[in-house]
Amino acid sequence: MVRVSKTIDYFINRKQEYLKDLFQYLRIPSISNKKEGVKKASIWLRDWLKSSADFYKVINTSGNPVILAEWEPNTLKGENGYRTVLIYGHYDVQSPEPLDQWISPPFEPEIRDGRIYARGVGDNKGQHYAHLVAIECTTKFSQLGLQVKFILDGEEESGSPHLDEVLNKEKEFFNNVDLVFVSDGPADPSWKPTISFGARGIVTARIYLHSANNDVHSGNFGGIQPNPALDLMRILQTMVDDNGRCLISGFYDSVFTPDEESLRAAKELNRTPELYKKSLGIDYFGGEQDIPLVHRVMFRPTFNIRGFQSGNVREYAKTIIPKDAVVELDFRLVPHQKPNQVQELVQIHLENLKAQSERWKRMIDRCKVTYEAGFAPIYTPLDLPWTKILVKSVKEGFGKLPVKIPLLGGSLPLFNLYQHMKKPMYIIPFGQPDQGNHAPNENLMLEWFEKGVTTSILLLKNLGMGS
Ligand SMILES: [Zn+2]
Repeated sequence: MVRVSKTIDYFINRKQEYLKDLFQYLRIPSISNKKEGVKKASIWLRDWLKSSADFYKVINTSGNPVILAEWEPNTLKGENGYRTVLIYGHYDVQSPEPLDQWISPPFEPEIRDGRIYARGVGDNKGQHYAHLVAIECTTKFSQLGLQVKFILDGEEESGSPHLDEVLNKEKEFFNNVDLVFVSDGPADPSWKPTISFGARGIVTARIYLHSANNDVHSGNFGGIQPNPALDLMRILQTMVDDNGRCLISGFYDSVFTPDEESLRAAKELNRTPELYKKSLGIDYFGGEQDIPLVHRVMFRPTFNIRGFQSGNVREYAKTIIPKDAVVELDFRLVPHQKPNQVQELVQIHLENLKAQSERWKRMIDRCKVTYEAGFAPIYTPLDLPWTKILVKSVKEGFGKLPVKIPLLGGSLPLFNLYQHMKKPMYIIPFGQPDQGNHAPNENLMLEWFEKGVTTSILLLKNLGMGS
């Protein structure tokens, strides 16, 4: 601990210089779909890594470049050899609009009330920069007891379409990795430091029923022309029961059973019905009625109608039978469900309906069903030995016991990396809950940045120990 405090002191003493560096990085408008700024940011990173890393490589893809870097251990080798950790970050940022809502310009970083305001400071430049600083400070004192690898994506905000290409092309770089960290997004709304062990996946489907040539008078043709809204609702009713359970055959077949540690962590989150009722302004709950609430939002898949359209209402109301109706569904997936399997199950469900009657057949034959590419779920069991080391490091770094979230309710584009690595993956955000990522006035509290660097130094130390 004496030596690690020396590393932390070194960081604290040099904090102003590191912040100056970070500000330079933040000034580069590396908006995901704008080549110029992205290129500039990749060059800035390359130059930073040139003076810090033992190895770095800029990999050009058909989209934005991906950058790899590596630091070799500089402590004596223990009996078990060295571990290898991979850290993921992304240097592209969201577009800053609407500009008139920013108090200071998005690409002119400014500190106000202990917060750095700039586009990308939380999502994700400030967060991965905290790790870069921690690695540099650790290597300065010859305390790096493990091998560290870094991957910097340039297209995360566009769904990382070329990450797979790099993961395949550079297989060797990734093949000895033991575990993966990602510091992105905000921490838990309770303001406690957070370790997330996974995220639900997602798949979406659109069913478009075009049942007639035209919208027609509901009096002249009422009772003759079929109503597509009613018919789509009939189809939907075959997909979910009154208790919120999805009726699509096989939907729950591959759903995992969470381990004891995950169940305990979910309980410790202490999310009461009152908490949800208050924050959402609701009086009753959706989803599977016989499953505990916190389990419904992480351990169970969901069936959701994200939108439904047919005919006209309010000031556009007309007494017609519409000619068409469309519904969009999203399914949140848990381990070990796969997006393409769920698509197949929806397809089989519709085929089975068709086989039931001539009327179903004619109705479904007029439906056009399309799917968007989905995300698979990400999940690392909580009962692995790494959990203890991570909890200890985050607790020391933040001075508070972290919240453990077995699965985030939402979905992350990181599933590509997860599927490729097949290694334990942890999301440890260094951004405070109100960082406003993707919104005007995105910010990162200086205190959280500093605690992030300290936590990263401790993570490197504790994972390097006993090697
Ligand atoms: Zn983002």
